[in-house]
Amino acid sequence: GTSGAGDFISDAIGHDIDGGVYKGRVQTRFPPEPNGYLHIGHAKAITVDFGTAEKFGGVCNVRLDDTNPVAENPEFVQSILDDIAWLGYEPAAVLHASGYFEQLYQWARYLIEQGLAYVDDQDNETISAQRGGYGRPGVESPFRDRSVEENLDLFTRMRAGEFPDGSRVLRAKIDMASDNMVLRDPVMYRIRHAEHHQTGMQWPIYPTYDWAHGQSDAIEGVTHSLCTLEFDTHRPLYDWYLNHLPLPTEKPRQIEFARLELTYTITSKRRLARLVRDGIVDGWDDPRMPTLRGLRRRGYPAKAVRDFCAYLGTTRTNARHNIEELESFVRRELNTTSRRRMVVTRPLHLVIDNWPTDENGSPVVEYFPLTNNPENPDEGTRLAAFTGDLFIEQEDFAETPPPKFFRLAPGREVRLRGAYLVTATGVVKDENGQVVEVHATYDPATRGGDAPDGRKVKSTMHWVSVPHAVDLDVALYDRLFTTPNPGESTGEPLDDLNPDSRELLSAKGEAAITDVEPGQVVQFERLGYFAADPDRPGLFHRTVGLRDEWAA
Ligand code: ATP
Ligand code: MG
Ligand code: MG
Repeated sequence: GTSGAGDFISDAIGHDIDGGVYKGRVQTRFPPEPNGYLHIGHAKAITVDFGTAEKFGGVCNVRLDDTNPVAENPEFVQSILDDIAWLGYEPAAVLHASGYFEQLYQWARYLIEQGLAYVDDQDNETISAQRGGYGRPGVESPFRDRSVEENLDLFTRMRAGEFPDGSRVLRAKIDMASDNMVLRDPVMYRIRHAEHHQTGMQWPIYPTYDWAHGQSDAIEGVTHSLCTLEFDTHRPLYDWYLNHLPLPTEKPRQIEFARLELTYTITSKRRLARLVRDGIVDGWDDPRMPTLRGLRRRGYPAKAVRDFCAYLGTTRTNARHNIEELESFVRRELNTTSRRRMVVTRPLHLVIDNWPTDENGSPVVEYFPLTNNPENPDEGTRLAAFTGDLFIEQEDFAETPPPKFFRLAPGREVRLRGAYLVTATGVVKDENGQVVEVHATYDPATRGGDAPDGRKVKSTMHWVSVPHAVDLDVALYDRLFTTPNPGESTGEPLDDLNPDSRELLSAKGEAAITDVEPGQVVQFERLGYFAADPDRPGLFHRTVGLRDEWAA
């Protein structure tokens, strides 16, 4: 397992501190692009970025990496900040890469003056075609050796908005024969006449990720810029820019760690967006989505997500972790925090024929105290009404019980949790032969659920009194994908979509189900953990089942 894996990031930072680098200061950042919602993979980055700063008594900021105006908007910014807060982290500051556009522009002019950047008049396709490949040097642009004066003039006019989109770019002049493709004269600026959610129409040119990132780190005083492994080939470029600029601070250091990927899950924003657009899920916060808002609506406690990420640690090997492992953290947390309630998800009538009536001829109602949370006695009990007219779970009854079926069957006695022992005596069927009602007798001597003569029953079932039942909508979820590694066979994860990932049931709950707060998770006894929808009263989402499927 990955538990207890050495934290190579802390080791590296510890080494820097011991060596007196950054004067012992540690500063990290979480740099989301506001072009979508955060997902479980981002939770990993957040816990690493914030966790590392915390561990060294340092600072972690959020920096919105807002360098691409067309894909980004303020709604995403807000959702990102909300999700970070939900996870339990508080950024020291919320910053925007767009806040550094002027400084980046000045530094780009500086590189031009040093003969280290040039304006290329070629289009994107031509530039890509000239990039070459491994073992195959690229082709130098015919514009590569423009004079500093001409470059400065063209770049000034790019910035002034004189040229149309895509007509020119600014490139760093590095090495078209480098073994590292990233160093083959990377693009620093593109022309894009588009409105930016922070800077409006101020800028007709926008910096690329590589040009913006390290410099933004330097401006903010980031010491350790933690990112995912796919950026390791970008590190030489990250360093190249920083090495060639007159920096006000010590150079930040980029350190890469493995992405978090989970079985039966995708984390590509583009594909998640398609699930939403194609109506395969109800939205970004659909409980089946691996987005943080989806997990939240599903009832995942933030603490379980954090603990899971901490347990995985940081490594430099990309691996897909079993989603059952994450669910195991969720279950463990919910077991201690969630109250118990009785809910029948597929109701079957159970009629107790010898149930008494009072002097007015109305059926007697008895109230039984049931423990709210056996893991926490402080949470006390609630009273559940019991009558001779009950709902039980369809699958808790079998007219002809198969081997090893110990629940209710004709002639068999079982316990109704906390109430009485009952024995099934007969059934009523509909015209299709389907059992629609079970008849039974109860033993008044077993009040509370135990027989004074000490006789045992093999099962204890949950129940809901019909006249006291509350109607509920319950959503059961299966995996969104049918295979552990979606897209493995065709290359397209959406080919492996599970068409039956949600089942909606009309359920019956005990009266105390109405005191569950929106968003709160309760255990439906014997069925699993269920989260009350934050917006729709009476709707519950199954968070996870009760059985731990994770065998370490
Ligand atoms: P896209 O490329 O679709 O915009 P992204 O995953 O790069 O998506 P960002 O908003 O740029 O999204 O990511 C912010 C930070 O989260 C980055 O540092 C990125 O490395 C990290 N991150 C993204 N996905 C994962 C993942 N699956 N595991 C760990 N970290 C991740
Ligand atoms: Mg990104
Ligand atoms: Mg990305």
